[in-house]
Amino acid sequence: MNIARKKLLILASKLGYQTRGFADAAEVLGVEVHFATDRCHKLDDPWSDGAVPLHFEKPQDAAKEIVQRFASDPPDAILALGDRPTPTAAYAARALGISGNAPEAVERCRSKLAQRETLHAAGLPVPEFLSLALNEPVETIMAQIKFPCVVKPLSLAASQGVIRADNERQFRAAASRIRALLQSPEIQVTREPGIDRLLIEEYIPGREVAVEGLLDQGSLRILAMFDKPDPLEGPYFEETIYVTPSRLTGAQQSTVCDCAVHAVRALGLTHGPVHAELRMNERGPWVLEIAPRPIGGLCSRALRFGPQRISLEELLLRHALGLGGTNVEREPDASGVMMIPVPRSGIFERVEGLEDAERVPSVTEMHITARLKDYVAAWPEGSSYLGFIFARAETPNKAEAALRGAHAKLFFEFSPRLPVEHPITGRISA
Ligand code: ADP
Repeated sequence: MNIARKKLLILASKLGYQTRGFADAAEVLGVEVHFATDRCHKLDDPWSDGAVPLHFEKPQDAAKEIVQRFASDPPDAILALGDRPTPTAAYAARALGISGNAPEAVERCRSKLAQRETLHAAGLPVPEFLSLALNEPVETIMAQIKFPCVVKPLSLAASQGVIRADNERQFRAAASRIRALLQSPEIQVTREPGIDRLLIEEYIPGREVAVEGLLDQGSLRILAMFDKPDPLEGPYFEETIYVTPSRLTGAQQSTVCDCAVHAVRALGLTHGPVHAELRMNERGPWVLEIAPRPIGGLCSRALRFGPQRISLEELLLRHALGLGGTNVEREPDASGVMMIPVPRSGIFERVEGLEDAERVPSVTEMHITARLKDYVAAWPEGSSYLGFIFARAETPNKAEAALRGAHAKLFFEFSPRLPVEHPITGRISA
């Protein structure tokens, strides 16, 4: 099938493996793809991919630029990858008169504080929370904090800067560590609106799941529910394993789905992909976060749909462009992905055991995405993984065991950085 006239605009901060997945799906469908990004504005088209340079931190201005740029031949759909471009996508879709979420709804999701306030006001189960400006002393709120708590930035992603604190001493350490991270040049340059505050919230124990959904005219369809079988009890919260289908009971899964449906409605989201994180405990489901975007990184490769085993990217493109063929279920096999965590910060020197890991039964693919000789930061300052391992099996337990088996065969070597001033703490380190 060739739908040559359909045109898609993809907004992304990084042009890499995720955008390539969408470009590949677009090619299969014969769709014309354009990219817009805020990765670098110093050079004109530095990567020779014709991406339109935008400033996602000023979404209304960025949307105006999109409208001007595409005035004579507007896109049929706009898709945002990652959290940062989601407001721009919503403002541009509204201005161009194409389907999208209301910008106000997306803005509510962009700030973890605004999201908590909205969900709390709508009576949804969210942790108790309070916030603190970076320049306010922690003493002003100390008496109100209940431990254990989680301290986090308002607008970063991938658990960057998210820290659990069990007592006052740990809270002070966490707050100053996040403050240093937010004041680092790497974060300041993003000019994110929320980087001058911290969110402090009740720690919610329980089993965590991620829900991948698709909104169509306000109705949420659950595409997959992933278990996150590692304990995720902190103090830092890098992701590791996602496995679907979930091993929660059918009744528990229904309450999680109902909770996600209500949360999405309370936020006012109506269109396109949704990625949600929830926890389940004896008091029921809790919303940790709802984002109007698809699952990140390479993780979408864990999902295939329908008899043709189409990718999540193809499903989302078909939906965005109204091409039909989206009424397909996830394949019957269990599937999992491990985001390979960074064991310690340092220069990534070497990886061993790849062949042995790939030979583990049920492992389907493996990608080391960190570059050799690059500095990689461990959490909570870090935000990107060493790579991804994928497995498919008859049961989720088998898929999970395969991921753990493969990971156990990998050995990563890091060397310390040369003595330099630490970009975050400013300390001289060897
Ligand atoms: P990000 O958007 O950067 O991923 P989140 O707010 O979703 O940040 O938090 C990342 C992870 O930290 C969650 O997936 C969860 O494991 C853990 N976490 C965050 N907030 C809480 C909380 N209130 N209680 C328990 N765990 C939490």
